[in-house]
Amino acid sequence: MNKKEFLYEGKAKKIYNSDDDNVVIEFKDDLTAFNAEKKGSEEGKGALNNKITIELFKLLENAGVKTHFVKKIDDIHLLAKKLDIIMIEVIVRNVATGSFVKRFGVKDGTKFDKPLVEFCYKDDDLGDPFINDEHCKVLDLLHDDNEIEYLKSEARKINDILKSYFLERKLNLIDFKVEFGKTSNGEILLADEITPDSCRFWDVDSNEKLDKDRFREDIGNVKVAYEEVLNRILNK
Ligand code: 5GP
Repeated sequence: MNKKEFLYEGKAKKIYNSDDDNVVIEFKDDLTAFNAEKKGSEEGKGALNNKITIELFKLLENAGVKTHFVKKIDDIHLLAKKLDIIMIEVIVRNVATGSFVKRFGVKDGTKFDKPLVEFCYKDDDLGDPFINDEHCKVLDLLHDDNEIEYLKSEARKINDILKSYFLERKLNLIDFKVEFGKTSNGEILLADEITPDSCRFWDVDSNEKLDKDRFREDIGNVKVAYEEVLNRILNK
């Protein structure tokens, strides 16, 4: 593996320089919640998230979504294109739960007629505050309305693809967070990860949670749930 200098460590991943065009992403076993107030670790979670991300990024690429994914390296590493990450967390919700329920007092589990796209400013010190289109421009996170619309339409497209893919696997995609970045020539690509750390999945028959809410809510069997998501991806 061509892993050169260390660049950055996040809550669940480490990034290393690889060459002029690419970075190596390492998936860690660490788990955090509530802006890292709650910390834990599950041996093998990094490998599961690497595998899940690779499968889902291949799926999205094949469906026409431009992503940073280049290739798998090994169990916990993948190679991705080097990007300037846009400091926005793009959240798509199909069902009200989590912070939406806390903010708006809507009954947990209420289905939305249409998917809801939200933006958060990616800043741990500020607790990733919710922002609107105008904040994106004032804070210079995106340059114009075209870029804002592009992120929203890509997020909706990703949701359409993933929602039907997981429904075939008896999982309801409740909500998820994605991130995007720009190449040196200004092209916007899907970046980061798509895993049970960044999505909520509920079993279609039992409504059992198969995602990081098991850690957030101390339900237990976190790794078993992530394994179940990977199994459903691989063995449909
Ligand atoms: P909520 O706003 O309800 O806490 O989260 C909405 C969705 O976005 C959930 O699927 C959640 O896992 C994901 N999400 C929100 N913020 C983050 C974050 O900082 N990191 C990760 N990995 N996922 C997030």
